[in-house]
Parts: sequence; C-alpha cells; structure tokens
Amino acid sequence: VRTMASEVERAQAAAAQADSGAPTIFDKIISKEIPAQVIYEDEEALAFRDINPQGPVHFLVIPKVRNGLTQLSKAKEEHKPLLGHLLYVAAQVAKQEGLSQGYRVVVNDGPNGCQSVYHLHLHIIGGRQMNWPPG
Ligand code: IMP
Repeated sequence: VRTMASEVERAQAAAAQADSGAPTIFDKIISKEIPAQVIYEDEEALAFRDINPQGPVHFLVIPKVRNGLTQLSKAKEEHKPLLGHLLYVAAQVAKQEGLSQGYRVVVNDGPNGCQSVYHLHLHIIGGRQMNWPPG
C-alpha cells in the first residue's frame, strides 16, 4: 500500500530530476516499450489507465510529444492548442468510460503539487463520490 508519506517522498525525489529533460516512464508507454492499458489515442494525445488507481476509473491523458511540457507550470503560449486538446480528450474519454455522474480532473505540478512523473499528464478519476478539499 502506498501511503501519503511515500507519495510525497516520491514527488520530492522526482522534483530533483524535473529539469534534467530525461525520458520518463511515459515515453516508454508512448513508444510501446512497456505495456499500458491504452483507452484512447490520436495524433497528439494518449489516454491509458493509471497503474495505481485512486477510484474505480482512473486514467491519464498525456501529450505524445512532451515538447517542453514537463509540467503545467512550464506552459507557453505555443502550448495553448495542445492544452485545450488534452482537456477535450479527457472529457470525451470520461464519457466513453461511462462517468455520467461526474469525475475529477487533476494536474499535479511540482513538489508541492505531488508530481512524480515529469511529462505533463491529466488525471481523470471517477466512479465514486469525490471529496473536497483534496489532501
Ligand atoms: P503524478 O504523481 O501526478 O506525477 O502522477 C503520476 C501517475 O502515473 C501516478 O498516478 C502513477 O500511478 C502513474 N504511473 C506511474 N507509472 C505508470 C505506468 O507505468 N503505467 C500507468 N501509470 C503509471
């Protein structure tokens, strides 16, 4: 079981490599080097199930080309169309997944946001009642 503390530790460790530009595990998912349960794919985006789901449905939407978007706070003007596309894909795939009662969309940014993989990704979590505020 991954505890809250280990999530934070993981995020702190990942932040140390955030600006290295090194490939992440998501590059290997994009290149199909490692398997993932892909539920949507187009030219720009990929959606696949999170390996550590936080609800009955938990998938990630990522850009296939990182292009500097290691994290949301690195967004530039040129990324605006891609950012819009990712949100639209999130909504379409949520519908495909049957999340008619709603869902949560999360982007963790940096160490305080508990980001552990430095390739931009949207979390879509649903299939249960969410609470507020988040931890
Ligand atoms: P972050 O903590 O917001 O950066 O989210 C990274 C997410 O990627 C976490 O929810 C992990 O469970 C998930 N994850 C890490 N490795 C894999 C994998 O190989 N397949 C699918 N999801 C993964």
